[in-house]
Amino acid sequence: MREKYSKEFINQRKKSWYFTYGLIAILIVIVFVVSFRRPPDYVVKDEISLGTHVRVVVSSKYSGKILDSIFREFRRIDSKFNPYNPNSKIYRINHSNGNWVEVDDEILFILKKSLYYADLTGGAFDFTLGRLIKLWGFDSENSEKRIPSSDEINETLKHIGYDKVEIDGNKVRLHDGVWLDFGAIVKGYAIDRAVQIAKKIDPKATGFVDAGGDIGIIGPKFGGADWIVGIRNPRGESQQDTIGVIYLKEGAVATSGDYERFFISNGKRYYHIFNPKTGYPAKGVISATVVANSCLDADALATAIFNLGIEYSLTYIPRYGGQAFIVDENQKIHKTKGFLYFEQVH
Ligand code: ADP
Ligand code: MG
Repeated sequence: MREKYSKEFINQRKKSWYFTYGLIAILIVIVFVVSFRRPPDYVVKDEISLGTHVRVVVSSKYSGKILDSIFREFRRIDSKFNPYNPNSKIYRINHSNGNWVEVDDEILFILKKSLYYADLTGGAFDFTLGRLIKLWGFDSENSEKRIPSSDEINETLKHIGYDKVEIDGNKVRLHDGVWLDFGAIVKGYAIDRAVQIAKKIDPKATGFVDAGGDIGIIGPKFGGADWIVGIRNPRGESQQDTIGVIYLKEGAVATSGDYERFFISNGKRYYHIFNPKTGYPAKGVISATVVANSCLDADALATAIFNLGIEYSLTYIPRYGGQAFIVDENQKIHKTKGFLYFEQVH
């Protein structure tokens, strides 16, 4: 009797040992699996395009294909939209001597968006100042930059005005010799295209596209966290010198600054964002950052702020779908109320 009892006792103890061993084994497997489900790796690629440094950071099963497709798209847009390159489509439209020119859907799309922003901002954003850009030497890095005479500026102003662009179906006609220049919007458009391409190839892709500080989000960091975008100090020594941060999981940011392309003459800075009414660089703002759903919108609005002025922008940019962070000529920061949202982690 005593012997039987102890056998049962031993069996039971054996069972509980098996159970414990089993449990430990399962726990080891769980720890193993969890530790190997690390966040995906990010792949980074850089290239110079659209006159700026483009960086794509992406995590996807198809990273290689995404990077190749995005940079091919940047190159395509660059060569099609550079108005000062005789091989570009825009150059050909600008040199069509006032005749009707047939344009494709993409150019029509950019033209209509530009007209929309020109109208919305009362011409603060004006994509017809190509001749003025050329006159000041901002058409290319290699062009000589100089302050034109007031006669030259007044003469050039006669060839500027978004009301001189006529569209009929898929045809466009430029009056009074205006030259199109989509420089203030096309970088944003290229970033939007890049984000679309990444999402189309892999809807689960995450990462971002950065073209000279203008950013489009492909997807949140590690699938759930914000990307942190620094706002450059417009009078800082380097890109790393920042005066603000933006937390973003989706959407876009664009910054326009008087430090991007400029020259100094007699201690005065002359830069590439113009007041289309005076023919001189815009005054009062030295940097404008806009957060919006699309980078095209953010890009257009950031440029417009230079001519809209600070008070007006703080009221109207949110109504136009953006939130803004503006630095004035005294280096004072102004923000729209809704900008606060992007200064917090979500
Ligand atoms: P960046 O290219 O440095 O990011 P922007 O987006 O502000 O800066 O674009 C500046 C370019 O836009 C200029 O180089 C010129 O081609 C064009 N541009 C300049 N002034 C205006 C303006 N008032 N409206 C529309 N486009 C402009
Ligand atoms: Mg712009």
